Amino acid sequence: MTPDWDFVVVGGGPAGMTAAQYASRSNLRTLVIEEMAPGGAVLLINEMENYPGFPEPVNGYEFSEKLRQQTENFGAVFKSAAATSITKNGDILTIDTTDGPISTWTAVISTGAKHKHIGVPGEEEFSGRGVSYCATCDGPFFKGKKILVIGGGDAACDEASYLAHLTDDLVMIHRRDRFRAQKALADRVLGNPSIDVRFNHTLERIEGSGKVTRVVFRRTDTNEIYEEDMDAVFIFIGSVPQTQIVPDLQIDEGGYLMTDQNMETDVKGLYAVGDVRATPFRQVVVACGEGAVAAHVAAAHIDAVKGDIYAGIATS
Ligand code: NAP
Repeated sequence: MTPDWDFVVVGGGPAGMTAAQYASRSNLRTLVIEEMAPGGAVLLINEMENYPGFPEPVNGYEFSEKLRQQTENFGAVFKSAAATSITKNGDILTIDTTDGPISTWTAVISTGAKHKHIGVPGEEEFSGRGVSYCATCDGPFFKGKKILVIGGGDAACDEASYLAHLTDDLVMIHRRDRFRAQKALADRVLGNPSIDVRFNHTLERIEGSGKVTRVVFRRTDTNEIYEEDMDAVFIFIGSVPQTQIVPDLQIDEGGYLMTDQNMETDVKGLYAVGDVRATPFRQVVVACGEGAVAAHVAAAHIDAVKGDIYAGIATS
């Protein structure tokens, strides 16, 4: 039996779309399944300044749109649906989706990761009413207001720099005494007069009435607890890999999918790339490279499988 597709990409972020480009350029019949708009987490990046070939910072939405166009130009097809499971029978993978099953020789999981919640009282209650995980989406609602940013990684620094364009009253807290973020992003925050950086701080709770009005901090070095008026709380403390459709695959201690250097999971013909994969450096440029590798290896895998099948037919 010939499956519906040669190569199916589950998740249309930069990793998945690059995989789809390389696969379609190798003449593989390629489908990208994406439940939201193509782009994934990059859609939320305000200014990406470290993607090679872009001397001016590029907006995440514009970057994603160009990637999508390029992917379609190479012949890949996009399908709007959610994948719910992946199973393997013989050489063929079946991907169940909200729009019915799809069969394929190979597939790549590029489902990314979702923002982590901090788990303090008030976070869920005020979500969407002052508590946010997306500066570009919600920042403009808090122009000129007092904003709190939590986190010490690239995302927190990148988003704090963006939010500082909207207000000059921005507090940023991090639980340790130094940022985890790349030096260039951290320095931009530390040198910004609109950002009041407070290390060794955690959030105890968020308070308000219908919307956020106050937060309570704890200093991790002295255990001092104090409160402060606040209009918005933006939380950027990392992410949780989206592996629900493949619960049996091997993962690392953080829950990220383990692969070999060919991006192949413990199931032959099934690859994982981008933010869902265990990798030492989660960057768009790395994710795209992983997508290219997966597509290249998948093409060789399909050749080998078809060769075996045709050899079997010829000798039977
Ligand atoms: P991340 O690198 O994992 O950083 C998460 C930050 O949140 C860390 O500073 C961590 O503190 C802190 N944190 C974690 N759990 C916490 C908790 N419960 N309470 C308080 N603080 C907590 O995540 P990210 O910043 O979202 O970045 C994810 C990936 O995307 C990274 O690989 C990053 O390089 C990439 N990215 C790149 C760009 C860019 O290049 N422009 C922009 C955004 C994201 P500790 O430091 O103490 O662990």
